[in-house]
Amino acid sequence: MTGRGPVSAVHLGLVDPRRPAGAAAAPTAAFPEVAPAARGEAPTAADSAPRLRALADRAAAELAGASATEIVRWAGETFGTRFCVTSSMADGVVAHLVSRVVPGVEVIFLDTGLHFPQTLRVRDEVARTLPVVVRSVRPPQTVGQQDGEYGPRLFHRAPDECCRLRKVEPLQRAMRDFDAWVTGLRRDESPTRAHTPVVAFDAARGKVKINPIAGWTQADVDDYIARWKVPVNELLRQGYGSVGCWPCTRRTRAGEDPRAGRWAMFDKTECGLHT
Ligand code: SF4
Repeated sequence: MTGRGPVSAVHLGLVDPRRPAGAAAAPTAAFPEVAPAARGEAPTAADSAPRLRALADRAAAELAGASATEIVRWAGETFGTRFCVTSSMADGVVAHLVSRVVPGVEVIFLDTGLHFPQTLRVRDEVARTLPVVVRSVRPPQTVGQQDGEYGPRLFHRAPDECCRLRKVEPLQRAMRDFDAWVTGLRRDESPTRAHTPVVAFDAARGKVKINPIAGWTQADVDDYIARWKVPVNELLRQGYGSVGCWPCTRRTRAGEDPRAGRWAMFDKTECGLHT
């Protein structure tokens, strides 16, 4: 873990992209009994799943109509340094958003060894230009070692297994250091994400999952990128609606949902991180 300033020192006058310019952010919802970090009592790894589940359930109800900034502020107050951002580096929007509230936040990037060079450039630009600590999390095996054990091009024969080895298990290990994670999931990305809550209990990992831009549209994201000059993957300007590993990503066609180009040859829409 890396150090970061006290959360109370970073309550900036932030602006949600859908809030009129100059309008002040509404006060964060009060969580007196679930804001230990604000009292200098940050949760520890010993926090039980039932406690985190109760915390997530209450936050989901109370933050359902909150802005992305308010949700991030709640995360900082509640978890202190025990939450991270995860990013696929399609863009740096969520890393940027969180860094404005909690500078020094850790950003987890699952470096599968199969990313487009354009994606790695976004990762490097995020690390260079934003007040965040980017941690590239790699699988135990290189792609070559995986080929040796499972045979070449596992992604074309058993993508669920490949995602388990190169994404799901590495995230599981990285999350040992945290009680919560912030994602960039949005409801408008695909039918499978249409009911994404802003806060939920991630039962698979026993963590709180925070989706501050769940209610944003693509137009909101585009506005944010333009306003803040956020790093963005150039593939998104070349016909890719969503960017993942190169063997499992193709351009999307007119009328397709943004994630239609992911695992297009399979009946698979998620890598397993969000299911
Ligand atoms: Fe493997 Fe494709 Fe999953 Fe990447 S997206 S881990 S290449 S199956």
